[in-house]
Amino acid sequence: MPSGPCDALRRQGYQFFSSQSSAALKPCMWCKRALAGGDMCYKHQFYGIASHRCVQMTPTLRCNQRCLFCWRSFEHEVTAEEECPPDVILTGIRRLQKKALAGYNAVLDNTVTDEKWQEALDPKHVAISLSGEPTLYSRLPELIDLFNANGYTTFLVSNGTNPDVLERCRAYQTYVSLDAPDEETYRKVCRPLADTWELVNESLRLLGKCRSAVRITLVAGLNDVTPAKYAAILQESGARFVEVKGYMYLGYSRNRLQRKNMPEHDAVRAFAEKIAAACDYRVRDENRLSRVVCLEREG
Ligand code: SF4
Repeated sequence: MPSGPCDALRRQGYQFFSSQSSAALKPCMWCKRALAGGDMCYKHQFYGIASHRCVQMTPTLRCNQRCLFCWRSFEHEVTAEEECPPDVILTGIRRLQKKALAGYNAVLDNTVTDEKWQEALDPKHVAISLSGEPTLYSRLPELIDLFNANGYTTFLVSNGTNPDVLERCRAYQTYVSLDAPDEETYRKVCRPLADTWELVNESLRLLGKCRSAVRITLVAGLNDVTPAKYAAILQESGARFVEVKGYMYLGYSRNRLQRKNMPEHDAVRAFAEKIAAACDYRVRDENRLSRVVCLEREG
């Protein structure tokens, strides 16, 4: 990865696929918890994904938004890089995941069973969601095809600003974020570098063509308004699932927001119900710990 941002990120546990690019992986908290026999993340509850066999990665840390709630640091912004080829990323997945989890395994000593450890070394799922906007990586469709061909299921999480790239991606489940009910709020909360509100809406309208989900990160006092407007956009999207998730006061977002911007689970649930009441979605499931409610399209 280009010098500068890399050292700080390495200290935070990022493993880079090559020295010239910002393609990276980092096991999430749930992966480590599941490895130690603890709880799995809500994606296990909602979609059956085993957390200790899930690789959280990104092909680029570049991004074209500056969302207030983002946990990444804009101070460590990556602006230029030499893209890492898809085959280098594929071959690095197991090696870097093992490297990232090895230290944790040692710390946990007897808590991790050999069976869990062996399973973790044989990941089955790739969540392209670590940080950065993956559609800014020019070879994303090719990378996902490679993951598919090698037996991984993939979750692709995008901010929706590049519908042309998104349309060419064949992930197992595609997420597009909708973090505002209108353009004005979008500009305030997501702080896009260009005029991308219409492009986000275009991406959302592609979601009826694939297994898909819309992610709404609810920030108390900022975008928890006009649920009917969210509902109208969702109705047009055709997405199968909607995750309404409360903002978590974590990482670098603490420099931009306050603890009071974190909605309680009951508030998230109430807002999700209001959205559901105004469109063809129903509450399917919820996870209090992660403050997330899953809606599913009816019929
Ligand atoms: S789109 Fe994602 S990576 Fe980019 S600033 Fe927003 S939350 Fe962060």
